[in-house]
Amino acid sequence: MSIGEKLAQVRQEIRTAALAAGRNPEEITLIAVSKTRPLSAVEEAMLCQQLDYGENRPQELAQKQEAYPQLRWHQIGQLQRNKVKLVVGKAVLIHSVDTLSLAEAIEKRAATLDIVQDILIQVNISGEASKSGVAPSEAIALCEAVAKLPHVRIQGLMTISVKDADDEENQRIFGGLQRLAEEIDGKKFPNVSMKERSMGMTHDYKAAIAAGATMVRVGTGIFGPRDYATIQ
Ligand SMILES: *Cc1c(COP(=O)(O)O)cnc(C)c1O
Repeated sequence: MSIGEKLAQVRQEIRTAALAAGRNPEEITLIAVSKTRPLSAVEEAMLCQQLDYGENRPQELAQKQEAYPQLRWHQIGQLQRNKVKLVVGKAVLIHSVDTLSLAEAIEKRAATLDIVQDILIQVNISGEASKSGVAPSEAIALCEAVAKLPHVRIQGLMTISVKDADDEENQRIFGGLQRLAEEIDGKKFPNVSMKERSMGMTHDYKAAIAAGATMVRVGTGIFGPRDYATIQ
């Protein structure tokens, strides 16, 4: 299947999952995860009206954003403080903020550029030691602290489920992020919105939509398997 055909299939499945959950399909943004893919793959998806793209390496995001500034680039992978310069002002949304020090580095860069950078707080709901993200018990305090930074705006939460999770485990993780977002929303921190929940990848986006995802991040489901050997 071509990228266009796979994209059409994923869009259809998002629609079906949203309607099955009694949700409006329009409130779900599909982020095509183009990490490791050449620009030609992005072009193919772009011709099918795909606007949002996810990258996990800051350098790669910066290069692709420069080639296609009219597209919406999302930083979904871990971000180190010394790489902040590459993505602030270039990414429409940074999904992976999990410490105050990272938020402060983004604040500093955004202030220099005189912009407000939209971010999500990444939460480690699964509890897997290997996953990045702030612990759920510390998420509220982090949001409260980040809320005070004038050039950073929290738009919601992000999480990653575990590989091979069953329905019950996915329900626990995605449902957990949804409930945490509702709890934070209830605190009415100034400058903090909980409008976005970024959760769900190729193997679990339908479960994430059932649990309230507003952004799903799909890579292999659109572009096929990644070949890490070909990139450098
Ligand atoms: C790579 C990646 C994805 C996409 O994964 P697929 O399984 O290819 O859909 C989603 N989210 C994050 C954070 C990623 O790093």
